[in-house]
Amino acid sequence: MPPAHPGLVLKVAVPAPLRQLFDYLPPRGAALPAPGCRCEVPFGNRTLIGVVWGHEQSEVASGKLKAVRRVIDEQPLIDPDLLALCDHAASYYHHPIGDVVATLLPVLLRQGSEALLPGRLEWQLTAQGRFAEPAALARAPRQQQALELLQQHPQGLPADMLAGLDIQRSALVALEKKGWVVLREVEADTPVPRSLMAEVPPTPGTEQQAAIKAIQGAHGFTPFLLDGITGSGKTEVYLQAMEPLLKEGKQILVLVPEIGLTPQTVRRFEKRFNVPVISLHSGLTDRERLHGWLRARRGEAGIVLGTRSAIFTPLLRPGMIIVDEAHDGSLKQQDGLRYSARDLAVWRARLLDVPVILGSATPALETLQLARAGRYRHLKLHNRAGDAKPPTLLLEDCRALSGREPLSPASLQAIEDTLKQKQQALIFINRRGYSPLIHCHDCGWEAECRHCSVHMTWHKRDNRLICHHCGAQQRIPRHCPGCGSSNLGDAGTGTEKLEELLEARFPGASVIRVDRDSTRRKGSLDAALKKVHGGAPAILVGTQMLAKGHHFPNLTLAVILDADGGFLSSDFRGPEHAGQLILQVAGRTGREQVAGRVLIQSRHPEHPLLHLLLSGDYHKLADALLGERRDVGLPPFGHLALIRTESAKAEEGMTLLGEVAALEGLPEGVQLLGPIPAPIERRQARFRTQLLLLAPDRPPLHRAIDVLLARLDSHPMARRCRWHLDVDPVDLL
Ligand code: ADP
Ligand code: ZN
Ligand code: ZN
Repeated sequence: MPPAHPGLVLKVAVPAPLRQLFDYLPPRGAALPAPGCRCEVPFGNRTLIGVVWGHEQSEVASGKLKAVRRVIDEQPLIDPDLLALCDHAASYYHHPIGDVVATLLPVLLRQGSEALLPGRLEWQLTAQGRFAEPAALARAPRQQQALELLQQHPQGLPADMLAGLDIQRSALVALEKKGWVVLREVEADTPVPRSLMAEVPPTPGTEQQAAIKAIQGAHGFTPFLLDGITGSGKTEVYLQAMEPLLKEGKQILVLVPEIGLTPQTVRRFEKRFNVPVISLHSGLTDRERLHGWLRARRGEAGIVLGTRSAIFTPLLRPGMIIVDEAHDGSLKQQDGLRYSARDLAVWRARLLDVPVILGSATPALETLQLARAGRYRHLKLHNRAGDAKPPTLLLEDCRALSGREPLSPASLQAIEDTLKQKQQALIFINRRGYSPLIHCHDCGWEAECRHCSVHMTWHKRDNRLICHHCGAQQRIPRHCPGCGSSNLGDAGTGTEKLEELLEARFPGASVIRVDRDSTRRKGSLDAALKKVHGGAPAILVGTQMLAKGHHFPNLTLAVILDADGGFLSSDFRGPEHAGQLILQVAGRTGREQVAGRVLIQSRHPEHPLLHLLLSGDYHKLADALLGERRDVGLPPFGHLALIRTESAKAEEGMTLLGEVAALEGLPEGVQLLGPIPAPIERRQARFRTQLLLLAPDRPPLHRAIDVLLARLDSHPMARRCRWHLDVDPVDLL
């Protein structure tokens, strides 16, 4: 049979670990699928679902090419702007395009489900069904129940809602056979609200007003950094800035760090306007996620709220993109396609020609530098909204404190005073568990994970040692595995120990611990947050889960433990992240009438960077850090990429990266640092070796990556060593 489209070859993105598109002949006897349509293609001896990327006239003999088996979508499923975003991500992150597409598509679409919204199907009564007697169905109780329910709702009920009410489809089908009910496809209701505003917004302050005006005045692609201290009303600026766009029927995409952590913020977006809001969070089923995706694509959602992966949500009438807490580490994906949702947000806004707002009280130095260089418009909010005052930060010299007492006398006194005033205190430590180290007093043995080069954390409640890197668990040894001594002890402090200590020290006080362990059970985080919002006097003990975006009205004191570790970290971003964390924790205090106090317990109270932070002015710290980075050419003044191997034997990664790096022919200006063992040398029983690339400009960096990846691809050892590339890496450990 002659080909249907002579000379035409389809370029298809296939979920295979190769950085290329694959050629196929168009399907026989069918129309040519447009770019963005899914199709089934033969691949080796399997059938995979790929996405058509384009077509090409091909002179070469196409006899060897296989044909597309089946086209799944009649209309493109992926819009041109998202195809372009994928192209960008694939080339910027040097990642297989098929895998980029897989990151973009909801699971069910990846598996070939129809892109239909079954939520539009409704069961309705027929005229006969309206007068049918449920009693006649006494022997078919399920049908009876279904009939009764529909008679109570004569306008019809959505099929998925009936399923949720445990009405079985078979019962409905039986009623359908009797001619009593029908399944109809109804128009999705795109409600036209009488008024857009669902609640009256507060009058913006002067600085807020200026920011809102600037954003509303923007036409086309305009990146903004909304640089406002904690509690300055950034969320209010987003809400008011988006209003005219929503009025025009435009859609707003909002990225937030972790939706479950700040239900309050989500509710503010939901309550303000009479438009449908879709939240894409990790608690959704695959089907719900698909529906959210499709509804956003059909323009039904006015506001789409989601975490990092929501940057790939299709929008019919895009109006603006907002990245809240744009400094947050969760915006960077740490496996597979290691993308920065913050950077892709700016890229996507450019493709869509819409404004994009990056909001933060502690912007990443990369973002801040772009704003200072005039590439982003820099909007500043220096004051807290309403009457709230900024918190006072105090440094506590804790060098004399013994390891047995994690809290200084001054901190304990401050907590006591706070409780007396009927207010809340937050004790912050970024370490869960009881204590981070179990060791032998006689021979110095320390409990390490069998699979990772890190200490096991003692979890007293579970009576176990747990590795925070791979999850491995062990029983607590009675005797030292090194010398047999029973003189074992623990060192250091985690949230569990603090909780125990505080309960003993303040009997009767309510101690609320919030970390990943205490909130594992469904609903427990919400319950804890509700208690805190209630405002009754309490001591909160928590990790960074408590640092993000919360507005606790009666929290007036924060005590920060062990935060100065970051200032001495081997990671060059350590001080930046420590400073951000301290200011974010501080920013949870004093958000209403009573001003907040923050005690920073430190064993390095002379550290100059720590002193810069005490003014509470992030920019002072940022200036100092940017100065250091400029001197050594680190980001944002240079650009980094990381190649990391994971191998069963330590030498394998070293040899592979060593050989790949040793060859000539790299572009000038690119420095190779390494290969060296990763700071966490072993993880999940694999040795980790890394090679860093540093270049003052991006183009040579990308050319160097191309050269190195080509060598890796063809190196025989690369088959035994897993490896990955991270462009703009954040995790260097
Ligand atoms: P941020 O996002 O900068 O941390 P929020 O937008 O959450 O700040 O605002 C902090 C608090 O101040 C919230 O309770 C908010 O409702 C309130 N707020 C914001 N803007 C105003 C305003 N113009 N007038 C009165 N209260 C405001
Ligand atoms: Zn010992
Ligand atoms: Zn481990």
